[in-house]
Amino acid sequence: MSDKNKKITPEEANLQKIISHAKEYGFVFPSSEIYDGLQAVYDYGQNGVELKNNLKQVWWKAMTMLNDNVVGIDAAIFMHPTTWKASGHVDSFNDPMVDNKDSKKRYRVDHLVEAKAYQYEEQGFPDKAVAVVSSMNQMLEKEDFEGLRQLLIDEKIVCQISGTSNWTEVRQFNLMFSTQMGSVAEESDKIYLRPETAQGIFVNFQNVQQTGRMKIPFGIAQIGKAFRNEIVARQFIFRMREFEQMEMQFFCRPGTEMEWYNFWKEKRRNFLLAIGLPAEKLRFHDHEKLAHYANAALDIEFEFPFGFKELEGIHSRSDFDLKQHQEHSKKKQQYFDEEVEDKEKQRYIPYVVETSIGADRLFLAVLSNAYTEEVKINAKGEEAKRILLKLHPAIAPVKVAVFPLIRKDGLPEKAKEVFELLRYDINTVYEERGAIGKNYTRMDLIGTPFCVTIDHQTLEDQTVTLRYRDTAEQIRIPISELHAKIAYEVSLKRVWEKM
Ligand code: ATP
Repeated sequence: MSDKNKKITPEEANLQKIISHAKEYGFVFPSSEIYDGLQAVYDYGQNGVELKNNLKQVWWKAMTMLNDNVVGIDAAIFMHPTTWKASGHVDSFNDPMVDNKDSKKRYRVDHLVEAKAYQYEEQGFPDKAVAVVSSMNQMLEKEDFEGLRQLLIDEKIVCQISGTSNWTEVRQFNLMFSTQMGSVAEESDKIYLRPETAQGIFVNFQNVQQTGRMKIPFGIAQIGKAFRNEIVARQFIFRMREFEQMEMQFFCRPGTEMEWYNFWKEKRRNFLLAIGLPAEKLRFHDHEKLAHYANAALDIEFEFPFGFKELEGIHSRSDFDLKQHQEHSKKKQQYFDEEVEDKEKQRYIPYVVETSIGADRLFLAVLSNAYTEEVKINAKGEEAKRILLKLHPAIAPVKVAVFPLIRKDGLPEKAKEVFELLRYDINTVYEERGAIGKNYTRMDLIGTPFCVTIDHQTLEDQTVTLRYRDTAEQIRIPISELHAKIAYEVSLKRVWEKM
């Protein structure tokens, strides 16, 4: 089966629409596209960068401003190589991979099996879906690679390119990118590009606790780039090789971790609802298989165009990470808790509850949820299709667009006055070319929640037309009230009100 003859599923068609829209309207471009792109690496365009910055800002503020006991840091991407020994990434940040001998394509075994399970579910065989995933999990646990290969064959799992199940043996593959630090090759050390931001938080635990005089329980939040040499690069910005994470490690007293795990689980879901993701597209998925040190873990899954998939992870990680760093660095990672009565138990390594979400995955969730196609009957009685992005106003890349109705009679001058009134603290664009209808359409396509039009009446009574994106409703409003009204509608307060 060649790529060309492959049938496109409805899910793939939906994702394709999002990818095309993202490209056409300046949200996401393939990296170095003039050289045909680089697999699983993407660039954010003029509207994409605004949306992504807004998502990062709303997450950052929700974590640090709305919680008395959470502070932020910004650690370097390069870290001492021992960090990754201590964290376990050097030895076990591996994924079992398999190659198809005919197409020479490489796959992650768990992805192939999950796709099969998804197919079973679609066909109405949920029991088979559960059985195949559970067999895989048992084999992964035992590192039974021959068993995994046999499972692929028995389940008739084929390569999408060649259509065959002519698989190589299953092998482990480390996902970390490495490079050299130092100018002289013999002296230089192999270092890694961090595969997660969390370790930058753990190694700064003592710095932040002491300099910030932080009392347990408290959290440290961070936003930053992470790099993984993902083998199966697909599903657009869902799985990238260079991506951004927004993580928070919450340090608490041993024994209280489940209370905090439940606290953050609810809090993080409320955040996702507050920025506009609908409840029916979100679900919790408890991990069946826990890491040996973890006592609870779940994913918050979102219904992407290709089905429910992990958007965010909430993990109760015990004292594993700090203990590992204490052992490898020989520096104590303990906390002295004056509030504990039993003197023997006053000094301890805190337990950690982690919340971890990808900024790019959140971007994809928000974008695909906002993408709306509407068919309405217009004034002439004809069917008119409208495409718009129903983004929450607080995260929309452009908040308001200002247009003069025509390019004469002093309207552009008046419109520029209104633009000046708004632009300094609200992301505003001004446009005097083109017809009003076309300008509204262009703003709908990038999700601008408000448009302001200046017409002849404005010159007489100092009012303007304010158009709402989602309803296309238009109201007249005095210029003197415009700034306050829009500033409120696009403020983060509107998000916090729903949390
Ligand atoms: P997956 O199972 O999808 O590979 P994971 O369980 O390895 O994800 P974590 O290590 O828990 O993911 O990372 C936390 C979050 O970082 C994920 O929930 C996701 O939002 C994001 N993330 C992880 N890997 C990628 C990637 N390759 N591209 C984009 N975002 C990612």
